[in-house]
Amino acid sequence: MFNTASSEVKKYTYRLKDGRVLNFDVKHDDAIDAIVSGNKWRKLKLNIACAVQNKMSGILTFGGAHSNHLVATAKAAQLAGLKSIGIVRGDELTCDSNETLRNCNQFGMELQFIPRNDFREFTSMDYQPCLKDSYPGYHIVPEGGANFYGVIGCQEILKELPSSAADYDHIFVAAGTGTTAAGLALSLNDNQLLHVVPALKGDFHAEAIKKMIYYATFSEEETEAIIHQQIRFLGDYHFGGYTKYNEELIEFIRDVAAQLSLYLDPIYTAKALYALVNEVKKGNIPPTEKLLFIHTGGLQGVKAFEEKIGQRLFL
Ligand SMILES: *Cc1c(COP(=O)(O)O)cnc(C)c1O
Repeated sequence: MFNTASSEVKKYTYRLKDGRVLNFDVKHDDAIDAIVSGNKWRKLKLNIACAVQNKMSGILTFGGAHSNHLVATAKAAQLAGLKSIGIVRGDELTCDSNETLRNCNQFGMELQFIPRNDFREFTSMDYQPCLKDSYPGYHIVPEGGANFYGVIGCQEILKELPSSAADYDHIFVAAGTGTTAAGLALSLNDNQLLHVVPALKGDFHAEAIKKMIYYATFSEEETEAIIHQQIRFLGDYHFGGYTKYNEELIEFIRDVAAQLSLYLDPIYTAKALYALVNEVKKGNIPPTEKLLFIHTGGLQGVKAFEEKIGQRLFL
């Protein structure tokens, strides 16, 4: 459906305020598609293939009002000739509440708005048999595309890099559910470290990622231990929590855009690249080591963010 060859690697040289320069490469998964963007396509690809192969009628999934995953699912399902149902958090919302939901609607997704307090229950595994009964013929994808197919799909990100990619010492990625990070962790070379930057507060990411690795390695302890040693969790770059930000983050986004024409979303990728820059600044990463940043997309959410802050993000 999408040619991921468009998600090429580009080189950047970023000038810090103190005059030092920092070199890093970016894997541009944001270039895959404006809507089915970045890691969302990676996580959906095999879920869609599974639904098509099993002759299911559609995909059912979940998300918040501005969910990158929800709108990506709507478009990808439509392109695959599948129907889609989106269970949305918040029964005060409508199909016309914002650009993301309008787009979902336009891509033919049937939206169902659930009271915020009931949303968790709807998304839980315990509730899935009930959903399967209510929506026969629908392949259910967990919130954020966080399932087996999602992890497998994300293993392709590093695999499709040219062989010179083996030279990267450090790989940085943003995390929500940690599915993308788990896929990357499972496809590292021996010499590589994966730096995971959660966009949310809390320490559940490490557990979630370890659980995915546990299943993916068939709980082989030695393999698991090796992979765990290659992961660093950078839990201090969430800027107060999910969707939280401050002036410094906005300034950083604008500076990166102005210097490099590299556009970051304020929810995930800005925090992850900020972490990369800061870790080098702090001396936690020697300046000679080779860095790769995974651009996981998310730019469809910028409009909503601009409405929230009442000004343009990219000047
Ligand atoms: C959803 C999303 C993430 C988080 O991915 P997970 O696999 O859930 O950790 C990161 N970056 C962007 C831009 C996203 O939209």
